[in-house]
Amino acid sequence: MKILSADLVTSAYTGGARDGIIRDELPQFGFIGRSNVGKSSLLNALMGRTLARTSAAAGKTRHANYYRVTAEGGKGGLATWGVYLVDLPGYGYARGGHDSRQELSGVVDAYLSALERPPAPNAPQREDRGAMFLMVDSRHPGLAADLEAWQHLSSRARVHVVASKVDKLSRSERAKSVRELTRIFNQAPIVVSSTSGEGLDDIWRVIASATIGDA
Ligand code: GDP
Repeated sequence: MKILSADLVTSAYTGGARDGIIRDELPQFGFIGRSNVGKSSLLNALMGRTLARTSAAAGKTRHANYYRVTAEGGKGGLATWGVYLVDLPGYGYARGGHDSRQELSGVVDAYLSALERPPAPNAPQREDRGAMFLMVDSRHPGLAADLEAWQHLSSRARVHVVASKVDKLSRSERAKSVRELTRIFNQAPIVVSSTSGEGLDDIWRVIASATIGDA
């Protein structure tokens, strides 16, 4: 599989008259996690381009940034296909934990309703309109804010858990983290490192499989 292009197409915000949420026929894959979890780094690594801003510059953005990615190939051959990778706002800024649900509303709910909505009348019927990647820090499995996010999101979308920064763990710490996360979220996490590149192929496999049925 090869990335042919990746571009920021819109920055959606639910505060205005038009929210900017994209509701066309391309599948959408949202990335969400606590601030500093490594979301921008992962998106940049996945796209092979520095498009998403890393924490130092990003601040507490409430926008959803849509990257349109065109890829070629996969197991099925050389056909070209497209998806949106969506950089959703971070959460976990609120102290005390009780504001996490509020932090997840707004643009995230608008994104979720776009995933849920039936396709336009003459768009091809798609069973899978996309999914969510919930990023959690592999060093800190089971944080309350992550569990709240999981509960909020998994009732409305397919959610894959991504364990970030695994290069920072020893082999035994890593095994322990994977065990913990599997128990907590009832699924094996996709283990990634934007630094080493580990796990990037696994994420693309999930995306390609949902989009072109390429396992
Ligand atoms: P975001 O706030 O979730 O977008 O997080 P960033 O991508 O900006 O990353 C936050 C910090 O973690 C930055 O200092 C990154 O350099 C660092 N970081 C991100 N991903 C990794 C990783 O896979 N391994 C390591 N060691 N550091 C990472």
